[in-house]
Amino acid sequence: MADAVEHNMEAPYLVTDTRRRGWGVACSCGFRSPLFDTREEAQTAATDHLEVPPPEEPKGYFARRRAKKQQRPDWMERRKG
Ligand SMILES: [Zn+2]
Repeated sequence: MADAVEHNMEAPYLVTDTRRRGWGVACSCGFRSPLFDTREEAQTAATDHLEVPPPEEPKGYFARRRAKKQQRPDWMERRKG
């Protein structure tokens, strides 16, 4: 597998804004996770990101694998409401 992009994930950081508060992670490839309530969730997002193959790889299999891991994906919530 050829991987040109380096993924150096930083440790989860705490965002304390007047409007947004939570844990997030950033990667050297430009990836930014959404904010989570706990540091653990942010760390999970980081691990998740590092497991995701480059876009050139077939998506189906991994997409399904990720969907299983995430308990409540964003799109599910939106679908409900
Ligand atoms: Zn990355």
